[in-house]
Amino acid sequence: MFKNEYLQRVYAQVEQRNPGEKEFLQAVREVLESLEVVVEKHPEYEKAGLLERLVEPERFIQFRVPWVDDAGNVHVNRGFRVQFNSAIGPYKGGLRLHPSVCASVVKFLGFEQIFKNSLTGLPMGGGKGGSDFDPKGKSDMEIMRFCQSFMTELSKHIGQFTDVPAGDIGVGGREIGYMFGQYKRLRNEYSGVLTGKGLAFGGSLVRTEATGYGLCYFTEEAMNCMRKDSFKGKTVVISGSGNVAIFATEKAVQLGAKVVALSDSAGYIYDKDGIRLDIVKDIKLERRARISEYVKEVPTAEYHEGCSGIWTIPCDIALPCATQNELDEASAKTLVANGCKVVCEGANMPSTPEAVEYFLANGVLYGPAKAANAGGVATSGLEMSQNSLRLSWTFEEVDERLKDIMKNIFHNAYEASKECGAEGNLLIGANVAGFQKVAEAMMAEGIAY
Ligand code: NDP
Repeated sequence: MFKNEYLQRVYAQVEQRNPGEKEFLQAVREVLESLEVVVEKHPEYEKAGLLERLVEPERFIQFRVPWVDDAGNVHVNRGFRVQFNSAIGPYKGGLRLHPSVCASVVKFLGFEQIFKNSLTGLPMGGGKGGSDFDPKGKSDMEIMRFCQSFMTELSKHIGQFTDVPAGDIGVGGREIGYMFGQYKRLRNEYSGVLTGKGLAFGGSLVRTEATGYGLCYFTEEAMNCMRKDSFKGKTVVISGSGNVAIFATEKAVQLGAKVVALSDSAGYIYDKDGIRLDIVKDIKLERRARISEYVKEVPTAEYHEGCSGIWTIPCDIALPCATQNELDEASAKTLVANGCKVVCEGANMPSTPEAVEYFLANGVLYGPAKAANAGGVATSGLEMSQNSLRLSWTFEEVDERLKDIMKNIFHNAYEASKECGAEGNLLIGANVAGFQKVAEAMMAEGIAY
């Protein structure tokens, strides 16, 4: 609960204005709870209505997305873009295609994105978008028609200096390609309006790997600094088997760990000998099939139905990389009881508030998503820089910059946690460090009367 009266009042208004939006309320509450010390120190924020402005999106766009399937049937989905905060740069954040996408999910992701983008040190504001369209089981042509229809409306609201979307769940290189093509046709303009593009048309090396690699760079730095430890010789459990999970697995193995489990929305695989990533990449990236296929190729591995069972596998490090609220308090207790010492988040808000509280109370090194998974958007920022410069940097050059950014994010969050009297609480540290720059910019830009 909030001790500070200003925070209490702001949160009560958010609850009243956004009834039933549980993901959005959860995200706002988590950030505001971290800001007690900062708000006490800066009474001028209340006078400037800073937090009231921060929790209200600058713009929220909802639109109809009609498309025609291969059999000629018409479908209508709902499209969204939230342009949450542009104090420190153009809106930036991914597009998610998943049946669970709704106003609450888009607003929670857009709100988180403000602080994440600030933490990268790059000039990017916070935004997010997507649709309740389900890409599962759709043909390539259906995906293309949907993406084109989606972009027909979205193109009216974005631009290289206004709002630069990227991928997220259900949106990878293929979807970004279709959307970029449609934007170019409609606007007759070749610009870096989207990131995560193919290398042939303005994409950046390392963007595909960036979130997963960045998660491991952050985790390695945090373990090194806070525990004098590393990935070397550790057993790791990673949920999900999409973009983030696959490249987190790749980097964790490169850093000397053994990854023993991965999942999808139907179930999880356990391979005590270490997951064969070449097989997973073929199943998920090439064939777009289910993770259960793995045991057909590796008969010594196990497949279990259901997702949360993955957290019962004993491990030293857990990296949740699937989706929001996938790790609850019961799973947190099981992980800790089985010896897990480090939990860093690849997905956005994968741990419930109760799980986070349990980790922090039980000495787990907890790396919150907005710090730990910022490598994706950071590399998107580097893609924007390359597009503006009309240059392409090498893999090594981008990877080095990513590594530096992730190390800096950890150190900024860690230092901020100390300044707040909560040394090692990276949740408070990341929220405060991300907030400070945005607050300064919002104070400077003034209020439009
Ligand atoms: P993908 O669409 O590539 O993969 C998502 C994966 O999560 C799939 O394997 C999916 O399984 C699985 N999944 C979905 N729901 C569940 C569930 N309830 N339990 C277990 N597994 C589930 O998405 P990304 O890898 O890009 O994104 C994953 C997370 O990382 C999201 O929270 C996203 O917001 C976050 N993120 C992504 C970034 C990026 O650069 N891509 C950047 C920063 C954060 P199935 O195939 O069955 O649907």
